[in-house]
Amino acid sequence: MEQEPLLMIPGPVPVPQRVRAAMTRQAINHRGPEFGAAYADCTRVLKTLFGTDNELYIISGSGSAGMEAGIANFARDRKIVSLVNGKFGERFAKIGARYGNVTSLESEWGTPLDLGALEQELEAGAEVVTMVHNETSAGIKNPAPEVAKLTRKYDALFLMDGVTSIGGDDVQMDRWGVDIAVVGSQKCLAAPAGLAAIAVGDRAWDRISEKRPFYLDMAAYRKSGKGTPMETPYTPAVPLFLALHEACRMIEEEGVPARIARHRRMADSIRAAAKGWGVDLFPKLDAHHAYSNTATAMRIPGVLTDKDLRGTVKQFGIEIAGGQDHLKGRIFRIGTMGGVGAQEILATLAAVQYALRKFGFEAGDGVEAAAGVLLG
Ligand SMILES: *Cc1c(COP(=O)(O)O)cnc(C)c1O
Repeated sequence: MEQEPLLMIPGPVPVPQRVRAAMTRQAINHRGPEFGAAYADCTRVLKTLFGTDNELYIISGSGSAGMEAGIANFARDRKIVSLVNGKFGERFAKIGARYGNVTSLESEWGTPLDLGALEQELEAGAEVVTMVHNETSAGIKNPAPEVAKLTRKYDALFLMDGVTSIGGDDVQMDRWGVDIAVVGSQKCLAAPAGLAAIAVGDRAWDRISEKRPFYLDMAAYRKSGKGTPMETPYTPAVPLFLALHEACRMIEEEGVPARIARHRRMADSIRAAAKGWGVDLFPKLDAHHAYSNTATAMRIPGVLTDKDLRGTVKQFGIEIAGGQDHLKGRIFRIGTMGGVGAQEILATLAAVQYALRKFGFEAGDGVEAAAGVLLG
């Protein structure tokens, strides 16, 4: 029997059957009440995941479109500080450089951000701070509450990429003081790829740029979003909205605290497996940084190659991720986002353990360690 591959990469993630089915129906009018109600209901549920009462709009485009919308509307021609300790932090800095004046504060991938250097830049007049909350490329969680606090102290705007934290880890946009936050559909929400959601607080709306892009004009999103029925400025990816709506129903059925606890338990189990194997976790932490609860990055032991490891795992029909850019061949990453649970994790870890041992790494029993964590 032909089996579907199991995607255990940090997005896209497996999409539940109910969510896929929602995409297959006949077209509906995107200016009608049914679409408006689905859009409104998605925003209601997503706000609970963002921890916000701010306005939230959904863009047809992947997570990067949401990042660009944030920059292009709220950071244009401004002094931007970009905190970088991985691939997506670099991307935020690159987007920023298209619209504003970026100072990149770079740390080695997977190592702590320099909050002291950030404060100096803010003192020197930086107006916007960008940071990736969960740096998927390196498996590190960056200190969003601390960065929000510093940003507020100097009256700058904080634009946060929450693409792989929102929906899988605790995010409190309002309580922390994040001004703009972004999520993508294909990560912790377990929806198909192609939508981004962006929440914008009052401090950011007050500073929206006069000169804005056309397609990603947040003032236009706001105007259409406040109408009855709720609409988007241009024709949205309607089937993806309907799929996201079903994914939101599943999120509500599970409950947000339970969903976050499940994501934590899954990441804990992967880390327990790494310890059991004797494989090193990639990030280097300090008191302000933590391991990611949605993507675990581990070093590939020297006795085997990336191809040995991931190629063998793939023979079982399971895909895990390698490293990006200079980390290619040096690390591997297991995503634990969306709707997956113990079944998928145990299969993945068993395949990894088999590969490690097959190519001469004397791995301990990581599967056993993980199983204990999964049962709680
Ligand atoms: C996946 C991801 C993105 C968005 O990437 P797209 O390919 O545009 O969806 C942004 N930030 C982080 C941290 C991500 O993991």
